[in-house]
Amino acid sequence: MRQFWTLLAFSWIVACSSSSVSTAERTNSSEKAPLATVLKEETLEPYPGLKIDHVQFSNGLNAYIIPREQNGTVGVVVGYEVGSRFEKVGRTGLAHLFEHMMFRGTESFPEPFQTLSEWSGHEFNAFTSDDQTVYHEMVPLKNFEDALKFESERMRKLLITPQGFNTERGAVVSERKMNYEDSPGGRLHFELYQTAFDKHPYKTTPIGWQDDIERASFEDALSFYHRNYAPNRASIAIIGDIKTDETKNLLLKYFGSFEEVPFKGLDTPKETLYRKNRKKTIHLKTQAVFLGDAAFAPTYNDKEAFAELFMCVLFADSTSGYLQHTLVEKGIARSVSASCSPSVDPGLSTITIVGVPKVSAATLEKKYEEAKKGFLAWAKNDRFENIKKYFEISQLESMRSPMDFATSIVSNAVTAKDPLYSFKLVEEVKKLKFEDIEKQFKTREKIGHTRILIIPAEKNDPMKKDKK
Ligand SMILES: [Zn+2]
Repeated sequence: MRQFWTLLAFSWIVACSSSSVSTAERTNSSEKAPLATVLKEETLEPYPGLKIDHVQFSNGLNAYIIPREQNGTVGVVVGYEVGSRFEKVGRTGLAHLFEHMMFRGTESFPEPFQTLSEWSGHEFNAFTSDDQTVYHEMVPLKNFEDALKFESERMRKLLITPQGFNTERGAVVSERKMNYEDSPGGRLHFELYQTAFDKHPYKTTPIGWQDDIERASFEDALSFYHRNYAPNRASIAIIGDIKTDETKNLLLKYFGSFEEVPFKGLDTPKETLYRKNRKKTIHLKTQAVFLGDAAFAPTYNDKEAFAELFMCVLFADSTSGYLQHTLVEKGIARSVSASCSPSVDPGLSTITIVGVPKVSAATLEKKYEEAKKGFLAWAKNDRFENIKKYFEISQLESMRSPMDFATSIVSNAVTAKDPLYSFKLVEEVKKLKFEDIEKQFKTREKIGHTRILIIPAEKNDPMKKDKK
């Protein structure tokens, strides 16, 4: 899956202090009769014997319940249809900042980090991407109901205070400096999106601009929360030692009193996909050259998404891809990787190459350009078929962990509007012919490319907003 997720760092999590004043709405769901009803129930079965009970409630909440033996544990994943795609110019970074706010405490759980740690050790986290924000925890069965209560309070009754907001704002500014401004990997990702996009909100990535984060007011945060954290913008997956009917009743008990918040969808600006290539060089205190090569990518609705993704696997998979053989094994690059999953609007398919220290940017670029010419001849016949099998196994393997599986269901429900998109992907890749890859590779060459080179230097170049 694509997504350069900004994972919550544990270092600052522990430092968070709780607040006691709530400015959020206060309604007690457990005392009120549930307003929502069950609109639709169905059982999805992507593979024989693998059953997912889907329940849609009248307030728009979608639940995916997966009962299975799991040593007395239950995984809870809540995904919201909100990410940096929903942000406006001058108001960037709010979705990710809000991911931090969601750990500030609720009425019944004023110290979420402590509570979640007691329930689950370190098996909880969250991430924000361009298209979604996801929260997940794995808890013992005895804490399952409390975990649902906690997630319901986070959805509509979070405790938000100006003091908590300022603390998280500071944490995000530090995270930004450490993981994006001064880190070659994060900086490469940010600069690729900044340079490739002119007007689409993907341009700024979830980390946002520091001055926007510093300027955001408490009222901005509050209104962002009330607009976006709502049952009709959420999907929840529950996996483990639970029963569907009991779980459904618990969901009604804790989420049933929440009303839908009208949302008409987004009218995002369209980028010009066929345009001249762009290139930018950044100096950073780093040992090696980093080369990022990106092209606009298909969306979840484009059938080319499957060929694009598998082409990237063939070309730059970090274990079996073509560039691994031509650049890494020949001592030119230290690593290669590809990130080519679709997104809601056209995003970027990115190839990243980290040079071996002392290999210059010019050499790395030259070797990369030369290598590209030999790709299709290399990928033909046996390699194409073998890597297809490897891809299928690795995709299914990646869903073996209950948490990863539940996250994939929620994430696909929220973004692709198809909870089984990962299964569809495996089936569609199986059907691909070599000619599909050839065609996609040639099409991709015509689409606007963006290249960023990060070059070792004594000083870091500052991040600059362009004046477009
Ligand atoms: Zn963060």
